Amino acid sequence: MATEKDTNKKFNNKEIIHDFGIDEANIENKAIESRIRELSIAGAGTRSIIKLGDNVLRAKTRVVNYFGHRLWTLLDDMKLTTLKSDGVGLAAPQIAILKKIVVIMFRGEEFELINPVISNEIGESIAPEGCLSVPSSMNCYVKRPYKLTLSYQDRYGKRHEGEFDNYLARIICHEVDHLNGILFIDRKCPPPEEESRKDPV
Ligand SMILES: [Zn+2]
Repeated sequence: MATEKDTNKKFNNKEIIHDFGIDEANIENKAIESRIRELSIAGAGTRSIIKLGDNVLRAKTRVVNYFGHRLWTLLDDMKLTTLKSDGVGLAAPQIAILKKIVVIMFRGEEFELINPVISNEIGESIAPEGCLSVPSSMNCYVKRPYKLTLSYQDRYGKRHEGEFDNYLARIICHEVDHLNGILFIDRKCPPPEEESRKDPV
């Protein structure tokens, strides 16, 4: 998924929510640069991102049951590709790999989600989205749950379950959709009339 900055490109200032000051943004940029260096030194490379129109983005993915070096290399490559593309998340089909693998790199937090399954969706949130595979001119509002539960495996195959809300829940939904051949533009909705978020019921 594209960053909030890119996601908001198409929309006017009134609709842009910036809760990040310049100092914080600078600190984050430095952290991203340093993470890019670390991943590069560790041998990660960037992969080409598949663009809208390629059928691979519409294909279904297979469950991962191998948790070894080839997976770890792929995860590191996906993370480097995400950071270098100024994104916050990437799903394996976006680099033409039809497996249930997602990475998320959001405000200093990193998630490697293997075989992710969403459950227990609560509330709703309407906000703009963008995607590294879709031109930013097609950015649009999408309704997502405000909060969800996610079960997934890590790079070693260990199972985890966690609760996520707000923007992180949105990124997770966007990326898990990719694993099912669904793009955010399929879920386009009108802008919210008033507030963009609703608290869970
Ligand atoms: Zn996307």
